[in-house]
Amino acid sequence: MKLTDTTYLVGGGTWGGMGLTPGPDCNVYLIDGGGALALIDTGSGVAGSPEAIARWITGHGFALSDVGTILLTHMHGDHVGGAAALAAMTGAEVFASPLTAGVLAAADEEVSSIRIARDAGIYPADFRLAPLAGVKLLDDGASVTVGAVTLTAIPTPGHSEGHLSFLATAPKRRDLFAGDIVFWRGRVLMQAIPGCDVMATARSIERLAGLGPIDGLFPGHGAVTLSGATRHINSAAEHVRALRVPPAL
Ligand SMILES: [Zn+2]
Repeated sequence: MKLTDTTYLVGGGTWGGMGLTPGPDCNVYLIDGGGALALIDTGSGVAGSPEAIARWITGHGFALSDVGTILLTHMHGDHVGGAAALAAMTGAEVFASPLTAGVLAAADEEVSSIRIARDAGIYPADFRLAPLAGVKLLDDGASVTVGAVTLTAIPTPGHSEGHLSFLATAPKRRDLFAGDIVFWRGRVLMQAIPGCDVMATARSIERLAGLGPIDGLFPGHGAVTLSGATRHINSAAEHVRALRVPPAL
């Protein structure tokens, strides 16, 4: 689904209701910088999901081999479970925070909360995190160029440790790929799992509110907004400044 001149939605499962791909996939975005493509997050990797994402990419007329970059927001299974499969299908370089890269290298289902989420029935009983070595590390402010689009990594822990958001600067737009740190209408997703931290969330929302005007807000689940995203980020920031946790997604 084409969202803007540079952004397509190519995955999204039952959480958030996009229904593009099977399973509990996060929203998966394709960045078209003109002659270069990047994926932001990879879905859960459950049976049929990587293939469905690939079909959405090729269905828009793109070649899988033109996806040279995969950026990961955070270590949860619905965002990184498909990383190994999609890296193999595309040949892309994968980038993530040091913590997320470490989880993938070790297929660490404890730190990533995948084991407890599976036990809680959030993932299928046979869900396993496929290991992926060689993930390149993104430090604070590191950027990746995808044709005419520059994607800058912004550490935004809170929903998860090692969580990154990506500020995409295109010729005519500034968009935020927010993972699970903030959603439409300033909602947040706090969970009773290790690594989820209210105070870190508050600081991350303040940081995002300090980025200045943002056009599109493309979160890890649910609704996207194509213009006026600053209003949604500021809505969350107003709660934080009143010492409240913003409302739940
Ligand atoms: Zn998450």
